[in-house]
Amino acid sequence: MHTVITNIRPWGGPLCDVVLDERSVVEIAAVGSAPTSDATIVDGAGRVAVPSFSDVHTHLDSNRLGLPFRPCTGAPDLMSRIMDDRANWRSAEASVTDRATYALQRAITFGATRVRSHAQVDADSGLAKLEGVLAARETHRDRATVEVVAFPQVGLHREAGVVALTAEALRLGADLVGGIDPCSIDRDPVRHLDTVFDLAERFGCGVDIHLHEPGALGLFSLSLITERTRALGMAGSVTVSHAFCLAEASTEAFRAIDELAELDIALTTIAPGTHGSLPIRRIVDAGVRIGLGMDGQRDYWSPYGNGDMLDRTWQLAFTQGYTFEPDLDSALAVATWGGHAVLDRAASRLVHGERPGLRVGDPAELVLIDAESAAAGVLDRPAGRVTVHHGRVVAENGELR
Ligand SMILES: [Zn+2]
Repeated sequence: MHTVITNIRPWGGPLCDVVLDERSVVEIAAVGSAPTSDATIVDGAGRVAVPSFSDVHTHLDSNRLGLPFRPCTGAPDLMSRIMDDRANWRSAEASVTDRATYALQRAITFGATRVRSHAQVDADSGLAKLEGVLAARETHRDRATVEVVAFPQVGLHREAGVVALTAEALRLGADLVGGIDPCSIDRDPVRHLDTVFDLAERFGCGVDIHLHEPGALGLFSLSLITERTRALGMAGSVTVSHAFCLAEASTEAFRAIDELAELDIALTTIAPGTHGSLPIRRIVDAGVRIGLGMDGQRDYWSPYGNGDMLDRTWQLAFTQGYTFEPDLDSALAVATWGGHAVLDRAASRLVHGERPGLRVGDPAELVLIDAESAAAGVLDRPAGRVTVHHGRVVAENGELR
């Protein structure tokens, strides 16, 4: 079964028709010339087509999207936010499952079909948050591909039983093992990272580590991550999220970026407004995979985030100071194909200036945006979207199909 999307403009280029099967783009044809017998026809209405968004760093278990606005009550530091979340998550107006399912629905309607969500496992919540995220994934299994990270937000060794809980989460369906700030949360970076990588070896899974630690401390933790990646032959299986330590334009940071490229350790960023922006152009030029994410959304940590990856793409472009069209396009490339290449290491790495993801053989994962051009779409963030997953429309104009 094929789908023919007529009258679309890949990356804002000339109008064409695109033929999809459930796996990939199988033909790009002049308007009106694609074979339509036995095909589902979708009128693209002149929209810009780009690869679907990949939200590669989100927390579906903690969002409060769709619920009454709730001001932050935690103190600014990380551990205070962790404990404030712990004190309040149970009293949310909706269950973790309902909140995660709704947040995933919003991501899909805004054009994301690839998501990597962390699911917190800790001594307080046990596996309840993981189960909510897994249930959301199941509900939307025909609309998006979702990876789940078993995420020990409060550290692995501060409280008893968390390592066993993390292992259980991996048994129950989490795809990757997480970690967080090896020096400042567990305050024992070697033990923390040895545990993370031991779990990865035991379960044959990838690793995705939150690294908020700044400057020299973060670079030290990063060196322990690269050391283990190299020693265990895990090149291509590791992701570092945030990596604020790379925001400093130092020789040490640039050397670390080159080592990430060598070991195919990917990065995710949420385009933060503080902590300094990552040098995206240098990271891409070095050959490091990088994708964009929403992180928390209207949760106990942050009042920001709305589920719209095009909105977050604007934020990436804004915080990078982009004004020229090729740079705006590149922000969209990070948010779409860049994240795809983080999740699927068989996918090609980004090249600045290229507009990836819409050639014959590329995945049948698209978002259609009602905009003059790709760059104008980033700036205007128009509401009219069509989301295509596995070659069929799964959401249109804000509604699931
Ligand atoms: Zn996070």
